[in-house]
Amino acid sequence: MQPQALYYDARVGRYRRADGRFVRRAEVLEQVDQEIARQRVRLKAKMRLWRSGQISKEEFISRCLEDLALSSIRMSALSSGGIENMSAAHDAEIEALLKDLVVRLEAVANKDEKERDLITLPQALVRVAALAAASKAAFFLSEVITRQNEGRTLARRSLDPQANHCSSCLEYTTNGEWLPIEQVVPPTVNCLCRLNCRCRIEYR
Ligand SMILES: [Zn+2]
Ligand SMILES: [Zn+2]
Repeated sequence: MQPQALYYDARVGRYRRADGRFVRRAEVLEQVDQEIARQRVRLKAKMRLWRSGQISKEEFISRCLEDLALSSIRMSALSSGGIENMSAAHDAEIEALLKDLVVRLEAVANKDEKERDLITLPQALVRVAALAAASKAAFFLSEVITRQNEGRTLARRSLDPQANHCSSCLEYTTNGEWLPIEQVVPPTVNCLCRLNCRCRIEYR
């Protein structure tokens, strides 16, 4: 089946289909989850290559970083309504995200190298795959900038009634209150539940 053409309506900050109908936000978030799943596979593949001696540690790090950078840009573009809506602020946000990822990736690699006999392959795969959460953070962090660029100033964050909440989610919810956009922490950012966060954020 041919995927339907989508276009971004900056006036309302949402995607529409060719016929003008809105795309549900849940569908956009599904795309994020699919990207995370693919990203986890890509990162694990790099770990397997390194562990089996097919690439060096340096190559492992640089290939993972390349994957993480491309994935972050894709997710940033998705929440921005396309690469053409991305601004210098978006680029700066991704750069900061990648700086943090380099540190975390090197920590994973160093630990794996030092404790190769103690860390099993499945454990190593879990550790590297966890970095995929950054792509979801890229989506939400870029969304804030996009909404600000569109002139929105307020945000509110609410808990998903069906989900389990970690202590960060409970701390970050605005309990239905609209607050200045910069005071609201976007979902999955600095959150203990990371990829499991189902909190909702709205802007106006
Ligand atoms: Zn949480
Ligand atoms: Zn949450």
